[in-house]
Amino acid sequence: MAVLEQLTSQKAIDLEGKYGAHNYHPLPVVLRKGDGVYVWDVEGKKYYDFLSAYSAVNQGHCHPKIVDAMVHQAKTLSLTSRAFYNDLLGTYEKFATELFGFDKLLPMNTGAEAVETALKICRKWAYEVKGIPENEAQIIVCENNFHGRTTTIISFSNDPVARKNFGPFTNGFIKIEYDNLTALEAALKANANIAGFLVEPIQGEAGVYVPSDGYLAAAKALCEKYKVLFIADEVQTGIARTGRLLATCGNCTCPTKNCEGTPETKADILILGKALSGGAYPVSAVLANDAIMNVIQPGNHGSTYGGNPIAAAVAIAALEVVKEEDLAENADRLGKIFRAELSQFVSENELVKSVRGKGLLNAILINDTEDSTTAWDICMKLRDNGLLAKPTHGNIIRFAPPLVMTEAELRDCISIIKKTITEFKK
Ligand SMILES: *Cc1c(COP(=O)(O)O)cnc(C)c1O
Repeated sequence: MAVLEQLTSQKAIDLEGKYGAHNYHPLPVVLRKGDGVYVWDVEGKKYYDFLSAYSAVNQGHCHPKIVDAMVHQAKTLSLTSRAFYNDLLGTYEKFATELFGFDKLLPMNTGAEAVETALKICRKWAYEVKGIPENEAQIIVCENNFHGRTTTIISFSNDPVARKNFGPFTNGFIKIEYDNLTALEAALKANANIAGFLVEPIQGEAGVYVPSDGYLAAAKALCEKYKVLFIADEVQTGIARTGRLLATCGNCTCPTKNCEGTPETKADILILGKALSGGAYPVSAVLANDAIMNVIQPGNHGSTYGGNPIAAAVAIAALEVVKEEDLAENADRLGKIFRAELSQFVSENELVKSVRGKGLLNAILINDTEDSTTAWDICMKLRDNGLLAKPTHGNIIRFAPPLVMTEAELRDCISIIKKTITEFKK
């Protein structure tokens, strides 16, 4: 019998439950097809995707330009390893560094790998350029951060579920409150061995926490004052999600043709992943200028798949789509409509307390406790009504549709959300 026989949703869920590790708790919906802002389950029911694979599918599902680039390259040359050169990596690096305004790019595959890479570059810079005594470098991070799942990264998480029984942990991290400049300056002042400050421009997994206006620029200024690297994890906020090519574009008014000319929030080390490939392929990257990136020499770091020709071709296409289809402008415009409509609704409805976000990275806060199942239960009803979203906590639902959405589609989604919440009974 064929291994790939047509399954029912229940059969697919049962298979994962029996043969897969239980490291996720998915919403019970089994998808088999995607196109733009839509996905279909195995029974043929159509949904709006309002998560976009945690903002990896900003360009929409199966974008034809990205798929074509991937298929063409897969048939031509897929992997050489970095033991040899390939004809696409340099072209991609030139394109991406010019677009984002950095001298150099280091290619990796997943977000967590890119974060790990940034931490290694930061530490090496601290010893070789800043002159911190070996093994003494400290990196400041924020409470409630999410930077991935490796052993070092969870060492500075404060999520007990992500950490419990995975110790011993990696040293060298100092945790401060997010969106608190006083805490940042105190930490910078208290220790001469600070190498960097790692921060998410908006804390996505924590529940879409948008910092105060001016926080990032002031944090960057403090980093400069204390000669510390400002490291922006834009794995989730980057690639037009928040209404600009990067959330650290600062006061860029373009609002996004590129992000140069905005030194006030520009990162010293920029971390990208997720939508860098439009969801087609795992592609991540770390960008920095020569004075920082040149601490990395042959043998210091690497990845068999990092910078492979398919990844390079896919990333070029995915970034071109962002520019050609004005996705940052669209995210900015639709995000304003979304928050305006939902704010009005919040003021009239008891069950939702607030809406927050930037561009098309938004969340609603449910009027219940963090350990309640209300957000999950609402997501189940949203699913029944044809819209897929996922709670980040018991009382927070993130809303992050693909950025290729039209205004008419967004308004349709807003009515589904309003209707679902209005009819919801605990
Ligand atoms: C998703 C995410 C990561 C980790 O990316 P993976 O590809 O899952 O390893 C890191 N940082 C942020 C901000 C993220 O949202």
